[in-house]
Amino acid sequence: MKTIAVLNQKGGAGKTTISTHLATALHHTGRSVLLVDSDPQGSARDWAAVRAEHPVSVVGIDRPTIERDVKSLAKVDFVVIDGAPQASDLAVSAIKAADFVLIPVQPSPYDIWATEDLVDLVKQRIEVTDGKLKAAFVVSRAITGSNISKDVSAILEDYGLPVLESKIFQRVDYPGTAARGSTVIEDFPRSEGTREMLALSAEIESIILEQEVV
Ligand code: ADP
Ligand code: MG
Repeated sequence: MKTIAVLNQKGGAGKTTISTHLATALHHTGRSVLLVDSDPQGSARDWAAVRAEHPVSVVGIDRPTIERDVKSLAKVDFVVIDGAPQASDLAVSAIKAADFVLIPVQPSPYDIWATEDLVDLVKQRIEVTDGKLKAAFVVSRAITGSNISKDVSAILEDYGLPVLESKIFQRVDYPGTAARGSTVIEDFPRSEGTREMLALSAEIESIILEQEVV
């Protein structure tokens, strides 16, 4: 079982959008997956509740005992943790539970600066685990045709964590499909949104598996 925690203390960074799509993408490629909603606001639970039948199971764990609780859950290939908008005990607990921490960040310096506390927590944990924990930024809500996400990737590299090649763009279909408790992967399988989310999922899987070989 591998655990991916999607974290950023800033609300609106795209954590829930990416978590629901990542869980769906992993399911789509034949993995068993559980989505853990660690946000007390319960957005991922609300998303799942829109439909009677859901391809992805969602459970809420919004206590700082995620690392322990996750071990007692059903055995699945992947657990995806949708993070809470805070860099406190809940985030620490999600980081401890994780094999991979994904930090979605909007392409703006203000959003990057706001990740500093989280990046410090993640780096401490990487040190404690002798590098077993992996982490990376992903540019989220990038605007098509703008160069800013390129500039932003350069600033992010100064934070000492890798920036994934995959980027998630701003697309109306993300909130549109969320309103139906769905994803672009299910509703628009041939869209650019599906392509970028499947690419993100594949990139993360390859980093996690690479880790196993070493
Ligand atoms: P977080 O969980 O980090 O607070 P959300 O995923 O809930 O962020 O996103 C905040 C808002 O922005 C939501 O209304 C969501 O639908 C919208 N949103 C997030 N990512 C995108 C995107 N790539 N394109 C368009 N809208 C997005
Ligand atoms: Mg959220």
